[in-house]
Amino acid sequence: MSLQTSAADVARALTAARALVVTAGAGMGVDSGLPDFRGPEGFWSAYPPYRRLGLTFEEAANPEHFEGDPAFGWGFYGHRTNLYRATVPHAGFGLLRGWAARLGLEPFVVTSNVDGQFQKAGFDEERIVEIHGSIHHLQCTGPCSDDIWENREAIPVDEATMRAGRVPTCPRCHAPSRPNILMFGDWSWLPDRTRIQEQQFDNFLARNSGRRIAVIEMGAGSAIPTIRATSERIGWSLAKATVIRINPREPRIDPPHLSLPCGAVEGLEGIRRELEKL
Ligand SMILES: [Zn+2]
Repeated sequence: MSLQTSAADVARALTAARALVVTAGAGMGVDSGLPDFRGPEGFWSAYPPYRRLGLTFEEAANPEHFEGDPAFGWGFYGHRTNLYRATVPHAGFGLLRGWAARLGLEPFVVTSNVDGQFQKAGFDEERIVEIHGSIHHLQCTGPCSDDIWENREAIPVDEATMRAGRVPTCPRCHAPSRPNILMFGDWSWLPDRTRIQEQQFDNFLARNSGRRIAVIEMGAGSAIPTIRATSERIGWSLAKATVIRINPREPRIDPPHLSLPCGAVEGLEGIRRELEKL
């Protein structure tokens, strides 16, 4: 199945749809220049200090640092906060928003990324599920309460040691705060913000269950399969849903769903060209 043939099929599915679900995994950020943490080498080439320390992504993204050595915990998350604040979302975000508006598709986003790029690209905050939380929101390390608040902290990080110059604290109990992100081996993540988002998504699916839905999935791998499972659950449970899987390494999905074996921007640009022919 050639890319061109598939992109034409996708364009037809999009024009027939009334709702658009965008599901995004870690590969979505690659075209914005964000590092891919896949495998130890991917992580260490993005963060050489952790190679010296022999720390994997799973070990760096661990809540124990916020308890034991918060300046070290905030080294990793402060660096990423600064990186995501500085990142410009790639052109694919704008294409998706444009299609939703022009083709009259009710949109919703489900992302495993904590980087806030969909909000930054102008997607409605009320139409996004961040299944692993958001780096732009904080909670208490304890936690002493269920409070989740916006991350407005300046967090300078020494890139040689990956230690933060200051540690944001909880306004209630003054213990270190931490990102409201589900980390590895995490028993203190507060799920309330994500639960509300999931409720909004359930309402969206209930509203659109009888309509044609296009699900565009990008950069979602099988290592942490939550996003792929979400796309497939919609694709197989709703009779009028078509899943479009855009993935350079693991594009496979069974027909009648569609597959583009490429990166997010390349796939979306291919769809754009086909839409212009219709
Ligand atoms: Zn607290």
